[in-house]
Amino acid sequence: MPILQDVLEEITDAMRRAEDRGRVADYIPQLAGVDPARFGIAVVTGDGAMHCAGDAEETFSIQSISKVFTLTMALGRIGDGLWRRVGREPSGNAFNSIVQLEREDGIPRNPFINAGAIVVTDVVLSGHEPREAIGAILHFLRFLAEDDSIIIDKAVARSETLTGYRNVALANYMKSFGNLNHEPERTLGVYFHQCAIAMSCRQLALAGRFLATGGRNPGTGFRVVSPERAKRINAVMLTCGHYDGSGDFAYHVGIPAKSGVGGGILGVVPGKASIAVWSPGLNAVGNSQLGALAMERLTRAMGWSVFGP
Ligand code: GLU
Repeated sequence: MPILQDVLEEITDAMRRAEDRGRVADYIPQLAGVDPARFGIAVVTGDGAMHCAGDAEETFSIQSISKVFTLTMALGRIGDGLWRRVGREPSGNAFNSIVQLEREDGIPRNPFINAGAIVVTDVVLSGHEPREAIGAILHFLRFLAEDDSIIIDKAVARSETLTGYRNVALANYMKSFGNLNHEPERTLGVYFHQCAIAMSCRQLALAGRFLATGGRNPGTGFRVVSPERAKRINAVMLTCGHYDGSGDFAYHVGIPAKSGVGGGILGVVPGKASIAVWSPGLNAVGNSQLGALAMERLTRAMGWSVFGP
């Protein structure tokens, strides 16, 4: 078995030299200025060992990776009743697509496309003020990563609030179908802030580890979710975590994972490891171009694809 730290250093070297780095997201103006040369990777293994390489300590906008954690919270609140308001099938459409919603009566295909994530956030908001819900999401991430320094990047939240017309349309459209319990701007206020949480690869790998260890946080010994629920969240990550690039990611990388337009990817190797990678340039479907390549090299070197060596 190769030495994990060596593998991470080799991957980081190769990714630093890569010429085609994809395109940094610019539809959220505050993200457009991020340096595309950045690359970081962190892996925490089941025994709690942390391995990092590159810019693994630098924070970036986690964006849609936050959807994994709000999904966990929403399932904790209302359990499987969530699946009456959002599906769990790959969408085969862009992350911010509106067309499918009309055909499917305002029920988003899955909790990781924007429409589905907005419904999930609407559940997390229930019984709270938006400010409290934002605090609860941030608190959950700090708790999972055992790190109180995690914050929301207010400039990113503001930037998205000012320009998120597509998400406003999705939320209003779902409201018209009765699939949003709060006023769209209240739910979106929470959604934009959860996406603007800033974390490093190290923090993200730590936050995701409960999904690799049957729902228990090995650091604290605390049970976050049941093994059954961890398994099901992983299943949705595997099938839907990369939008309409989910099939390709499963084919090449072969692990449950969730991407964000900030260029981060959180990956779960059940029973073995939690991985976070960050490279800001995106491919045509909005997933980190080099992040996916790095994950592919890592899972291949370590024999970590869930589909075989
Ligand atoms: N905040 C982003 C949006 O709603 C999230 C998209 C993503 O990370 O894929 O457009």
